[in-house]
Amino acid sequence: MKIYLANPRGFCAGVDRAIDIVDLSLKKYGAPIYVRHEIVHSRHVVNSLRTKGAVFVEELGEVPEGSVVIFSAHGVAKSVWEEANQRRLQVIDATCPLVIKVHNEVNRDHMQGYDLILIGHAGHPEVIGTLGQIPDKFHLVSSVDDVEKLQVENTKALSYVTQTTLSVDECRDIVGALNKRFPHIKGPHQEDICYATQNRQNAVKALSSLVDVILVIGSPNSSNSNRLRELGERCGIPSYLIDAASDINPTWLSNAKAIGIAAGASAPEVLVEEVVTYLKTLGPAEVENLTVVEEDVEFVLPKELITIQSASQSVGVQAG
Ligand code: SF4
Repeated sequence: MKIYLANPRGFCAGVDRAIDIVDLSLKKYGAPIYVRHEIVHSRHVVNSLRTKGAVFVEELGEVPEGSVVIFSAHGVAKSVWEEANQRRLQVIDATCPLVIKVHNEVNRDHMQGYDLILIGHAGHPEVIGTLGQIPDKFHLVSSVDDVEKLQVENTKALSYVTQTTLSVDECRDIVGALNKRFPHIKGPHQEDICYATQNRQNAVKALSSLVDVILVIGSPNSSNSNRLRELGERCGIPSYLIDAASDINPTWLSNAKAIGIAAGASAPEVLVEEVVTYLKTLGPAEVENLTVVEEDVEFVLPKELITIQSASQSVGVQAG
């Protein structure tokens, strides 16, 4: 059996930063540290941080007044910031800088008088946070069909932004429909679908020409992981989303000579290793990385945590 590992796979810079923020906050302030929503959509990551003292809540009302609370990588609506201020919470913001870029675009265009359209999936926390940047004149579309039905007041001052973790191909179709229906519409200067989403999708496309089945490691609520599974299917390869090796149904792999493994941006490498270990129990296997691009993106931490990070690193160097 041949096993191809999609590369890039797993943690992106925004997820790395968000997890570091929780870890370093626990070091600096001690447990418990409250985190609004799952810091990233990974059951494994959330459970591991929970054992260290992170308390995950869905609403700020569950956080005692005056406590430290971390906002997840997906970003929050402005009303959440206001509520945190009213309740005297100390906020550490783990919103990915690439989501903040979208928030900035929304606020700038709104100030300039544009009506806005967000291409995204209803109910996803990032979408709720982005829609919550402005009080009105914001429309959500998820499909070409939604674009056809859209009612807007001013077609001359219209702009769009996108969720960062969409399918590149589907988004292209929706943007095409928007441009066709609203020829004056303005889009972002630089794509809102983030580099990590694009690279992982390109890696799945590359896998699909070599394998008989694709296993995508990611939690069911992870948007970018779901898009990877759908892409594998669209490329004609049976594709399955799994949270861990224990989710694999051996019948999926019967007759498969080559298996592709991809991992969403919030899936840790240890889960990839566990899947490979499991597959090796099924018979002799040769493992190969299939690299489409090397990633070297890093995001800086919030300033209140930089000193604690430096201190941790110097302890690590001395200990090493
Ligand atoms: S998937 Fe993209 S937008 Fe989301 S945290 Fe990672 S880098 Fe940021």
